Amino acid sequence: MSTFLITGGAGFIGSHLAEKLLDLDEKVLILDDLSSGSVRNIAHLRSNPKLEFQAGSIFERGLLREMVDAADIIVHLAATVGVLNIIESPVTTIQNNVGGTEAVLQAAAKKRKKVIVASTSEVYGKSNEPVFREDGDLVFGPTSKSRWSYASSKVVDEFLTLAYWKEYRVPTIIVRLFNTIGPRQSGRYGMVVPRFLRQALSGQNLTVFGTGNQSRCFTYVADVVEWLLLLAANDKAVGEVFNLGNPEEVTINELARRIIELTGARVGIDHIPYSQAYEEGFEDMERRVPDITRIRAFTGYSPRYSLDDALRLTRDWFVAEKILEESTAFHYGLGQLGGAPRSVRHDKTSE
Ligand code: UDP
Repeated sequence: MSTFLITGGAGFIGSHLAEKLLDLDEKVLILDDLSSGSVRNIAHLRSNPKLEFQAGSIFERGLLREMVDAADIIVHLAATVGVLNIIESPVTTIQNNVGGTEAVLQAAAKKRKKVIVASTSEVYGKSNEPVFREDGDLVFGPTSKSRWSYASSKVVDEFLTLAYWKEYRVPTIIVRLFNTIGPRQSGRYGMVVPRFLRQALSGQNLTVFGTGNQSRCFTYVADVVEWLLLLAANDKAVGEVFNLGNPEEVTINELARRIIELTGARVGIDHIPYSQAYEEGFEDMERRVPDITRIRAFTGYSPRYSLDDALRLTRDWFVAEKILEESTAFHYGLGQLGGAPRSVRHDKTSE
């Protein structure tokens, strides 16, 4: 039995990882400042005596050190994520992502604890490669465009993480997550699948940004969790960078169409220019497809959930949630479910 510390464990991916670890009878410590994660995400786990939850920040050095010392392995998911957050709070994004990862690595260095650090497919930036390999070039736009601050902050995280391995022999692993989706993901920070599901289920038109011809590869959260567990147990993976993604590609127009079909919603699709959705001069990525040769070679695991499986399972959760929220709203006289709020500041999230 091992003890896992999950920073950002009350967030979307962290809560799924915690759930799986507890199923496997492992001990789980969660450190989450609840800025965007929520106790609701882990409410169903709270009665498990093998779970310890601390509402606190990775910037509370004493608390972090104590929890790191009590763990065998750390999965560092706490970060500021979501395009809306990044554009609206660039200072917080840089501070949280760079300072937060540095704090976790420093604490882990004392006793050379193994750390898995969550990075992102955003680090490939505007690369034109048809598929992204971990050793490929990273291509960013100018610093005047705040979108790139997120990718850059995660690149600094990656350099730091590799440096702690090279210089201090802290066993670290980097994972680049490609558009993970599933139950409990919030649409408040811009993520497209929860936004489309909420729109469809509330009878609103889906808002596709740009032409909708841009594509993404969506990965079901259970596949990501499986990979994280296999990497945690694999000593050969130390010092390596891995793409974690499902290479099945879909355009955002097609995604919108499938979500309308899956929900049976009688809604249309509105195309909104990027300047209105985000900010003037916003640069989106046209395509972002992972090469997963390396993660397959190290773990022997390939994604088990197709996009349709992932969308169905996510839809089922959102339907159940909406019923729950509506009954609560009805109970408190709050009326209809609103759309996703545009403005969220100073949030620290797990991706
Ligand atoms: N997107 C969209 N409508 C939305 C939210 C996002 O059309 O309500 C688009 C967004 O412009 C991007 C894609 O969906 O091309 C994926 O966006 P998301 O923020 O989920 O992830 P990203 O890949 O941009 O990090």
